[in-house]
Amino acid sequence: MKLSKDQAIRLAKLVYGQESKRVKEIEQAYKQLQTDTIDTINSYVNDDKSWNAKAPLDDIKQLLEDVKNLYDDLNDDEQNLVRMAFSDNKLKSNGDMLLAKVTGLIIGVAIYQRRQLIGGTADISKAYEVKSYQSAKKIIKKTPKLSGKTQGRRFSSNVDVIMQKMARNAVLDRHIDTDIISSINKQTLQTIRKVRDIAERAAKSNKDSLNWQNEVANVLTGGNRLTNGQMGRAAGMIRTATAQSINRTTLEGLKKRKVKRYKFVSLEAPTTCADCHNLDGKIFNVADAEEGVNYPLIHINCQCIVTEVNEDDDWDTSTHDITEDFKKL
Ligand SMILES: [Zn+2]
Repeated sequence: MKLSKDQAIRLAKLVYGQESKRVKEIEQAYKQLQTDTIDTINSYVNDDKSWNAKAPLDDIKQLLEDVKNLYDDLNDDEQNLVRMAFSDNKLKSNGDMLLAKVTGLIIGVAIYQRRQLIGGTADISKAYEVKSYQSAKKIIKKTPKLSGKTQGRRFSSNVDVIMQKMARNAVLDRHIDTDIISSINKQTLQTIRKVRDIAERAAKSNKDSLNWQNEVANVLTGGNRLTNGQMGRAAGMIRTATAQSINRTTLEGLKKRKVKRYKFVSLEAPTTCADCHNLDGKIFNVADAEEGVNYPLIHINCQCIVTEVNEDDDWDTSTHDITEDFKKL
């Protein structure tokens, strides 16, 4: 699809607008996870349970049922993640139950994160592969809303809605690094280890709740840290996937249509892109395009794009409004 510079910028802004909704959704999910995790640990501590005492049978039954309900809705990959998360979790004592409950909460959000990433980026490359700007806009605008209500399923809140809207066999856009999904899995298992460790210490020490609550917050949302913890990594992944899909699909199109040169465009968004300022407006050969060097994305959270340069177009003045010049005369 051939886009003028103006159209390329408008389409990218539309995509990045959708993306910031996704980012808010995932941040909301992690904040809710933090609240749910702290509540779960708190209710254990307040009940003054003994860690090693046998758990009530009804609790065990309920938990197994919850895990099964979640599990049945998942694809093979997701089921594999659930098995790994629960692999060494016995369900005998009160302590086992607490660990299983926090594991379930985190797993729910991890599934949400995986599907949200796949679903939220699914239409971008489609939009960049159609023939006209108008149809591209339409595709982006009708991207389904994936946000969920924070009630319903015991483990996670948002999972239900995602399940309904996304086929379980949805596949990741081929332009996005495939290892992004295995990164989510790895990070999820690490997060589970950390939170279980905090939960165990909190349950056994039975005091000073402020301290462990801060620890939970640090892991899940970063607490007061700028990194935003796991929530920040999840948001970063959505941004990376979006920019990869836009720019890799664009580059394929340029090569296919034998466009010789492109111009680097640094979008002026609040989150961008001091690093890319120097590249803005520079022209490179398509044959020399190298992601991270002279072709976006250049860095994490980069929102830059490129626009094609054609010798027979008045490319460098395509957004130049000549009536402004008339006014100066
Ligand atoms: Zn950039």
